[in-house]
Amino acid sequence: MTGVALQGRHAVVTGGGSGIGAACAQALARSGARVTVMGRDRKRLCEQLGRLVSTHDAHARPAPCAQAVAVDVTQADSVDTAFAIASAAFGPVDILVNNAGHAQAAPFSRTDPALWQRMLDVNLGGVYLCTRAVIDSMVERRDGRVINIASTAGLAGYAYVAAYCAAKHGVIGLTRALALEYAAHGVTVNAVCPGYTDTPLLRESIAQIVAKTGRDEADARRELLRANPQGRFIAPDEVADTVLWLCSPGARSINGHAVSVSGGEVM
Ligand code: NAD
Repeated sequence: MTGVALQGRHAVVTGGGSGIGAACAQALARSGARVTVMGRDRKRLCEQLGRLVSTHDAHARPAPCAQAVAVDVTQADSVDTAFAIASAAFGPVDILVNNAGHAQAAPFSRTDPALWQRMLDVNLGGVYLCTRAVIDSMVERRDGRVINIASTAGLAGYAYVAAYCAAKHGVIGLTRALALEYAAHGVTVNAVCPGYTDTPLLRESIAQIVAKTGRDEADARRELLRANPQGRFIAPDEVADTVLWLCSPGARSINGHAVSVSGGEVM
């Protein structure tokens, strides 16, 4: 997507070192935003930062276009510290893309309390902690966009990923509640719900199917591909384009939505 002007805006993308988060960071930087990529994996973050800077600072911007800040979105102290560092360098956060997440499959009877808690902490608790870190400042400035990368698993059930599904449904509930709470304060809150998207997380899910069922990789891929009526995996850039649109001035009335990017798998 081109033509969205975000010059001077500070955008934070959690889990911005890979997959959908990396595509969002590129799209936001391309539109002129100053982007903080946050994540746990320092090496991956630095590689992503290098790509952002070499692509976008080449256009002779007056100030650096990107920074990388380490965070564990499941830890309140880590989140507060990361957002303080990010804002000290690039100013208050105008756009927050809550993208960090993780999917681990297991039959429900083998979903032990630790797996259940891990899925809730990273996929739902992280959205809560990161949004909490920016919302007051957005309200104060009467301006902000919060975009939560949920999943079609936030809108429909899938077998063998009960904890992930529960967490992603929670993200959609949180999105809808915050959208109403902050509607009159200049802040919009929306969710983007990708279907199976070609990223490291998907490749890990395919490996989990192979390991747990003994099926071969091509067979596992075919099964996941069948979920999308278009018979293909979503590209990370398609999700990033939707995020960019939600950041545009024209989307200021879009609030509390869960936008499905899934080729019609879930509507
Ligand atoms: P990915 O594994 O490439 O990205 C996830 C990122 O989150 C990684 O960079 C990882 O380091 C980061 N992360 C994980 N735990 C973290 C933590 N505790 N603190 C900070 N960062 C952490 O996978 P992706 O597919 O790009 O996933 C991005 C988002 O999209 C996730 O929320 C995922 O649930 C969602 N999603 C993915 C798909 C898919 O098929 N790939 C489909 C629907 C939704």
